[in-house]
Amino acid sequence: METGRCLEVNNLRTWFHTPEGVVKAVDGVSFHIEEGETLALVGESGCGKTITSLSLLRLLPETAELKADRILLNGRDVTQIDKTEARLLRGSQISMIFQEPMTSLNPVYRIEKQLGEVFRLHHPGISREEVASRSVEMLRKVGVPNPKERLKAYPHQLSGGLRQRVMIAISLASNPRLVIADEPTTALDVTIQAQVLEMMKGLREKYNTSMLMITHDLGIVAEICDEVSVIYAGRVIEHGTLEDIFENTRHPYTEGLFNSLPNLEDRQAQLKPIKGLMPDPSNLPKGCAFCPRCDYAMEICKTEKPQRVYRNETHYVECHLYNKDNIQEGKVGRR
Ligand code: SF4
Repeated sequence: METGRCLEVNNLRTWFHTPEGVVKAVDGVSFHIEEGETLALVGESGCGKTITSLSLLRLLPETAELKADRILLNGRDVTQIDKTEARLLRGSQISMIFQEPMTSLNPVYRIEKQLGEVFRLHHPGISREEVASRSVEMLRKVGVPNPKERLKAYPHQLSGGLRQRVMIAISLASNPRLVIADEPTTALDVTIQAQVLEMMKGLREKYNTSMLMITHDLGIVAEICDEVSVIYAGRVIEHGTLEDIFENTRHPYTEGLFNSLPNLEDRQAQLKPIKGLMPDPSNLPKGCAFCPRCDYAMEICKTEKPQRVYRNETHYVECHLYNKDNIQEGKVGRR
């Protein structure tokens, strides 16, 4: 493993065994995150991005089967640890910011108890005064005004933006190496969204925390991420740096994600959503999973899964348009 690598995920497969058959929610996902970097996992709902993050946290239901060649978090293989170790890992090395803080904050406890709990858990024997002063400091860092007063509040007494800041404070209080943020600003209005993203960027730079940003929003990706993995039907179908993905889009699905964004330069332009729906993961198409929705589909796409093709060291795509016998450079473009 290279020095400075925070997370390395190799061939992650998360399958669910149901009465209807095997649901391959994640099927061969690989990526890595260097220290202090942010990787975006991008895709529509149901593409496998949240199950990927829950797999890293080992927060899967009993019906799930998790397999991977390896998942190294700071050099430790998290597939090889038991439930108790996994629980200790969560919070100490890896923590998560959820989309809707109201569902992850406990409504019956004041903020001071919920935030203080993290300090008590990670620093046994810490004094009450120390917990209080660290809690105030942490809320201040994430931009909560009047932190002493806010500590006495219950979650419902705070605005959506403040609750999300409190969630971020809780997830950073244990000083984790990796933060997984699952659509962290989706529930917020646009101006608060921008403030929260700005604050997360500042914290990342200050503490060199690595981040896995799960989102369907390419605007957020452009704002905060270094690398991007586009995920479809449980697989990474295109991966690259921000420049690779934004300036040299290759996969028709990535193109579709861009084309379904509002065009700020031409406000009259119509949105062009991707036609059709994500396939049923228990019944994926035989060839390319995107085939039924793809404007560029060829005969081969119906029967053969596309292999990974590299455009350069950092940028790869899984699509028959780019295999060596069928190069169609520049075919895919943005509206
Ligand atoms: Fe479209 Fe074929 Fe590429 Fe799949 S492999 S994205 S169907 S062109």
